[in-house]
Amino acid sequence: MKKLIGNLSELQTLERVEKKRPGANKRIVELRALIPAPILTHYDRLMARGKKGVATIKGQVCGECHVQVPRNTILILMSGEDIQICGNCGRYLCLPEPVNPAAPPAKTKKSRGKPAALAAVA
Ligand SMILES: [Zn+2]
Repeated sequence: MKKLIGNLSELQTLERVEKKRPGANKRIVELRALIPAPILTHYDRLMARGKKGVATIKGQVCGECHVQVPRNTILILMSGEDIQICGNCGRYLCLPEPVNPAAPPAKTKKSRGKPAALAAVA
């Protein structure tokens, strides 16, 4: 199911942002073939109204309508067992991309060291 919402999210990006990119249409056709028809129908209905079909959850609220998403819904999404719809706006919900844990700590160490030294001088 995680893959399904990933496909839906990719499809949305392609259709809304990258439609003119070479090869985008081919990928759109591929993705549409992978997504079950009822889900695609609901997604298309939202898109036809000029809305996004997929909303990313930000800080436990729907990224599009800003209504709080029940904790249970987030847990189901995290488990990847099922796809979930926002109870308020009806968009498919997806979790934000996980932040790469390898990169930030190295930066934090550097930036943390300098201000501390400056603070000690001041
Ligand atoms: Zn919503």
